[in-house]
This record gives sequence, structure tokens and C-alpha cells, in this order.
Amino acid sequence: MDGPTRAIRLTTQTYARLLLAGAALVPVYLIAYLFFFQDPTLKFENHSFHIIAISLATLAGLFVTYVTWRCYQSSGEPLLRWLTLGLLGFALIYALHGAFTGYAHDNIWLFILYGPASRLVMATLLLVGLLSYDRAPDVVARRMQLFPWLMWIGLFLLVNVAVALAANSPIAGNPVLRLTMEGGALAISVLNVTLMLVRRIRSPLMVIFAVSVTSFALSSLAFILGRPWNHMWWLAHAIFAGGFFLLSYGVVKAFLTSRSFSTIYSQEEMMARLAEATARTETALRELQHTNQTLERLATTDPLTGADNRRRFMERVESEIHRVKRGGAPFSVLALDLDNFKVINDRYGHQVGDDILKAFVRKCVAAIRPYDGVARVGGEEFMILLPHALEAASSIAERLRSVVASTTFESGHQQLNDVSVSIGAAQFGRDADTIDDILRVADERLYRAKHQGRNRVVAA
Ligand code: GH3
Ligand code: MG
Ligand code: MG
Repeated sequence: MDGPTRAIRLTTQTYARLLLAGAALVPVYLIAYLFFFQDPTLKFENHSFHIIAISLATLAGLFVTYVTWRCYQSSGEPLLRWLTLGLLGFALIYALHGAFTGYAHDNIWLFILYGPASRLVMATLLLVGLLSYDRAPDVVARRMQLFPWLMWIGLFLLVNVAVALAANSPIAGNPVLRLTMEGGALAISVLNVTLMLVRRIRSPLMVIFAVSVTSFALSSLAFILGRPWNHMWWLAHAIFAGGFFLLSYGVVKAFLTSRSFSTIYSQEEMMARLAEATARTETALRELQHTNQTLERLATTDPLTGADNRRRFMERVESEIHRVKRGGAPFSVLALDLDNFKVINDRYGHQVGDDILKAFVRKCVAAIRPYDGVARVGGEEFMILLPHALEAASSIAERLRSVVASTTFESGHQQLNDVSVSIGAAQFGRDADTIDDILRVADERLYRAKHQGRNRVVAA
């Protein structure tokens, strides 16, 4: 099947991006709805609910901090270091917003200010994290250092003290303080998302990061528009929680996959890599099969003549014996030895001898076609397996002997008319019942053929 056309690809990609943007901006519709249609004086003031919600958020924050830290330990990605700090700072500061719920009436600023403070700290650290996106991983020694983390924890506790001091000072009542912090968090988060869009950062985990930061920005907007305990204020909490859950999801995904936010983990890229890896595996498999075939051939054939080697011949004879024992037709073996080969070698040289050996194997193969069972078992000694009884085997042997005797073998400029072969033939079952015996009987008959003057077949 053909892939989609460029236009369709582009359209679907654009549509996917619009969907994503639409989903990321869902809080905007809710904020607008409350802002335009809801009475801002309506309140839901429930302290226990608030304390439980903030406690759960703090616990979740600490857990996700831990998971992020583990990801950082394994990939060393600076982004993950800053993300760990952002989540930790948020959890440590935001916890006091819950803890001071009881002061909602006595000291409203002690209660309120930890919220924007925690969001400002987190937004700042996430922005620094984004700026370190794509930086080289921290070396292992640095990841292991405890001191910087303790220093940061100390810094977060200092922020807590500073917020408490501010809440108890005259500037607390000045709305500029809260607006500055909340507005700062909003501006920094917007800057964060803008930078991501401008830098065209597209890895799926970073998309999750961007959507989360968008939620944080919108929650700050809702907090600015809200009043403590009114619906906009609760909605702001919910929007923040949504972003927080999504970011946690990203962190856990990273933990379960690459432990990294920037490298790999793009579904498109993974599909491409998978296709590449599959193709490589298939090629490797084909090469392996080819190599196996080559090895198999090398392990079972004689390199000079291409005939089977002794090992392969023995295997063939053994399987023939099994076949006969199961009631199959008889088989015979021929033992062959070229006559006076030493003289040929001495007279014409080794190369000529080699050429004759090769030509002789071709004659043998032609003589027993369509079967194959020619093996070289020694220098100029061969064996042939024939799926015939002795009479038929002997006549094939005789035909082969006479062909060899009447052939003019050629090698280079040499022409040889005096090549001949002696052959001993034996039938399994009739002459012997074991593999050793059948080979021995064929050899004995070959020996007798030599004694009787060579260039002959002995079959009894
Ligand atoms: P017989 O008729 O009794 O078999 O005499 P023969 O000379 O053939 O027997 P012998 O066993 O004395 O000599 C075999 C010779 O075969 C010795 C060696 O020079 C030659 N030979 C063995 N292997 C090779 C080979 O791979 N290449 C060539 N060119 N010659 C070989
Ligand atoms: Mg010989
Ligand atoms: Mg010999």
C-alpha cells in the first residue's frame, strides 16, 4: 500500500496539532465561563476538604519528585535535574498552604501566599530546565552529589520563612505582592511554552511538558481572577492539579521507558527505528542462512573435487542402512582407486594429477545420475553409494570403468589416454550387515581388482 500523499500528511499533522492546542486550552473555556456567567461571591469554604486535597498534592508531589530524581540519576539529563528541583520546591512550599488552612481567617496572607510562592518557584525552575534542554548529560559523579540537593532544600525552607515574614509584615496586605508572584508565575510559564513552540521541540514527553506548563499558566490566571474559596479559586486548584497529574504521567512514562525527556521516545521515530532494525535483522538472518549453507558445504565436501567427504559419505550410508532395515530396496557401495596414480603424478606433475581427480569425479557423477553419492575418501580413493542391488551396481561400475579407460583426460597441454580405475563392489545385506563390514568387503574386492591387474571391477 502507498503511503498518504504529502497534502494529507500535512493536513492530519496540522489537525493533530490543533486538537492538542484545543485540549491544552480547555481551562480557558472554563475560566471564561466562570468569569462571565458565575457570581464571584459564591463560595465553597470547606477547610477539611482543602487540607486533604493539599496533603494529597504534597504526597503526590514528593513521590513524583522521587521518580523524576531516579530518571535523572539514570540519564543525567539537566532538564530532569531542574524538573526534580521544581517539583520538590513546589511540594515543600505548597505543603504550608495546606498546613495553614486554619489561618484562613486569622492570618489570610499566611494561608494565601504559599500558593503563588510555590507556583512561582516551580515555574522558574521549569523554565531553567527548558533552557537546559538538549544539554549534555551530567557526569555520573555530579548526579551522585548530595550537597547541592541539601542546599536547594535549605533554599526552599528559606523561601518558606521569607513568605511567613512577608505575610506578617505590612506589605502582606498590598495586593501587588500576591499579584507579582502569581503574575510572575503566569509570565514565566507563558515564556516557557513560547520558547518550546519557537524551538519546535516535538518529543512526545516534551509535548506533555508543554501542556502541563500551559495548565500551570492558566491556573495562575484563574488564581488572579479568583477570590479565596470562590468557584474560580477552586477551579484554579483543579487546573493546576490537571497540569500536575499530566506532568507526573510524563515523568512516570519516562521512568518506564528511556528515563529521559529529550532523547528518543517519539512514536514516529520509534516506528522508523523499528522498521530499520527489522530490515537489518532480516538481512542478517539471510546472511546467516547463507553462511550456514556455506559452512555445511565446507564441512561435508572435498574442496578440490566438490565430491562428498568421508564424513558425509558415512552419514549417507548410515541412513541407507536404516532405510533398508525398514524394508527398503537394497543398496550397494563401490570402492574406487585410480591406477598407478603415483606414476601419473611423477610423470606429469601434481597439477595434472589434480585436474584428473576433478575430471574423474565428474565422470562418476555423470555415471550414477540422477543419484548423487560420490565421495572422496583418500588421495585418489573414492566411494560411491548406489541405491541398487549388486548386479545393477556392478554394471554401473563396469560402465564407469570403461568410460574412464577410454577417455582422453586433458590438463593444460597434456593429453592422457592411460588413466584407469579399479573398483570393488559390495551389496549391503548380501555381503555384510554393518557399515564397517560393507566398506571392508568393498575395499577387499578393490584390492583384489588391483592384484588381478587393475582396470577392472570385482563384485564377488
Ligand atoms: P595403485 O594403482 O596401486 O593405486 O597405485 P597408486 O600409485 O595409485 O597408489 P599409491 O597409493 O602408491 O599412490 C597414490 C598417489 O596419489 C600418491 C600421491 O602422489 C597421489 N595423490 C594423493 N592425493 C593427491 C592429490 O590430492 N593430488 C594429486 N595430484 N595427487 C595425489
Ligand atoms: Mg591408486
Ligand atoms: Mg591409493
